[in-house]
Amino acid sequence: MLILISDAFAPDLPKILSSYGKVTDDMGKLPEATVVLVRSKTKVTKEYIDSAPNLKLVIRGGVGLDNIDLNYAAENGITVHNTAAASSIAVTELAFTLMITLPNHVIKADSTMHAGQWAKKELKRTELYNKILGIIGLGMIGSELAKRATAFGMNVIAYDPFVESSVVATMKPDLKGVLNNSDYVSLHLPLTDETTGLINAEMLKEFKDGAYLINTGRGKTIIEEDVVEALKSGKLAGFGNDVWYSDPPENTPLIDAPNMLMLPHLGASTKENLLRIGDIIESIIRDFVSTD
Ligand code: NAD
Repeated sequence: MLILISDAFAPDLPKILSSYGKVTDDMGKLPEATVVLVRSKTKVTKEYIDSAPNLKLVIRGGVGLDNIDLNYAAENGITVHNTAAASSIAVTELAFTLMITLPNHVIKADSTMHAGQWAKKELKRTELYNKILGIIGLGMIGSELAKRATAFGMNVIAYDPFVESSVVATMKPDLKGVLNNSDYVSLHLPLTDETTGLINAEMLKEFKDGAYLINTGRGKTIIEEDVVEALKSGKLAGFGNDVWYSDPPENTPLIDAPNMLMLPHLGASTKENLLRIGDIIESIIRDFVSTD
């Protein structure tokens, strides 16, 4: 059995998996591969699947499956797994990092110091304490964020049509109910037909004036041009973003927007998470080998 490691994983993963088969990172071997390991970079399209006649199992290290043509994989008898639970802590800590960095002006404070300026009077911080955090998508990551925000003395409300009640947040029956009341809005949505472009000009009108927006879910859940307008008008006080229309983004208008904090899709990129992903991948392959 040939295992093709297509994207970046923990360095010792090839050694761990070598007891289950031959392991390669040579993309030219795709036609011979039985198992392929991907993260978000490799796009498992129809063409990709057509050039892999021996493929039986695709493992996505991470959560989002929007880079995999799930229907075509199923039609071709290919099983697809993700490592859903592994990344929650890593992404949550990054969302919290964005939420605490923006109102404390950490980046501007640091860059002005490096430029030899003393911006003490200009930089007025805002506390998270007693503020309202609105979470859109209260799944694994949203729930972990809610717990941390509560520890900071924030009040947490959430909208998720598939979650009726929660012990970590007060559920609101509609999106506007969250947007109208939140000082911070954090997006933790999968990319679906319903969530694509969800945060658009119309919805941005529903935000409180001067609210902060954080997105560590999927880039295409926002309309970038509309968010830029909201940043320029001051409707949004800041936007912390980890996710893009493509990796890396091409011609995004967010690059020139004010009060914009940008990260290169770092949500899952902790050492600990790569190890957790590796452990889960090994157990999936162990099960696959024992039932094959
Ligand atoms: P999850 O499936 O546990 O949670 C997603 C939640 O969104 C679910 O509770 C679901 O009911 C809810 N949801 C679906 N449609 C909705 C809608 N229209 N409105 C409101 N809520 C809706 O997934 P998770 O582990 O919490 O991850 C959330 C997302 O984070 C993933 O889908 C992925 O896109 C993204 N992610 C990003 C990174 C990164 O590197 N930045 C890493 C991992 C995951």
